[in-house]
Amino acid sequence: MKMFKFLAELIFPHRCLGCSEYLEAAYLCGPCLKKLPVRSRLECIGCRRTVPGGITCPDCRPHYSLNRVFIVSEYHDPVVSGAIKALKYRFLPELAKPLAGLAVNYIQDQSALHRISFAGENFAVVPVPLHGRRENWRGFNQAALIARKLAEHYRLDYGEHLKRQNHSIPQAQIDDSHMRFENVKNAFACVDPSLVRGRSILLVDDVCTTGATLNECAMILKKNGAASVTALVIARG
Ligand SMILES: [Zn+2]
Ligand SMILES: [Zn+2]
Repeated sequence: MKMFKFLAELIFPHRCLGCSEYLEAAYLCGPCLKKLPVRSRLECIGCRRTVPGGITCPDCRPHYSLNRVFIVSEYHDPVVSGAIKALKYRFLPELAKPLAGLAVNYIQDQSALHRISFAGENFAVVPVPLHGRRENWRGFNQAALIARKLAEHYRLDYGEHLKRQNHSIPQAQIDDSHMRFENVKNAFACVDPSLVRGRSILLVDDVCTTGATLNECAMILKKNGAASVTALVIARG
């Protein structure tokens, strides 16, 4: 273990992702952390138009199961995208802490504007799952690390209520495009519906792009009785 740590320190020395300063045991220094952008504009998961409360707009609602999305920061900020990538691809779980901290700052701003509140609602924090094989290879699910820290901070229930299930039929063997669509739609399963039923779900992931994964998760959660699904991601790529 000592040897591993020594090698890891050689390969990935503790240097700030923002200013390159050598640090004791972190990858972002205090001043650089404070400089990270925190979003204020709320957008629709489907069409990206500005919407009040981050709700899925009426035009997109027929196609999206997600009720709301909150996007914490900006992917085009090199330190934000660098931290997300380093957490995911350089296996640096230490970065979950500053990214969750950024989410807390964001939630503070949004709750001051009465756009988000965890009070009164029966919230459960649920991470987007990784495929089992990828998680084993990496050793952790970056979304779960962030989700767990948020749940701890707000004293909300945390649960890995979703799992990815292997497709019984490989996509390549399906010719019909509609069937392929359906096959991907069933990528997730609910672990225990009794833990989801009637709950407001805060679905957490590190990044989203089209929102297809968040939407698939939301659909399964609602199918299993979730009252509402609010997604929170660090950035939208
Ligand atoms: Zn710095
Ligand atoms: Zn929309």
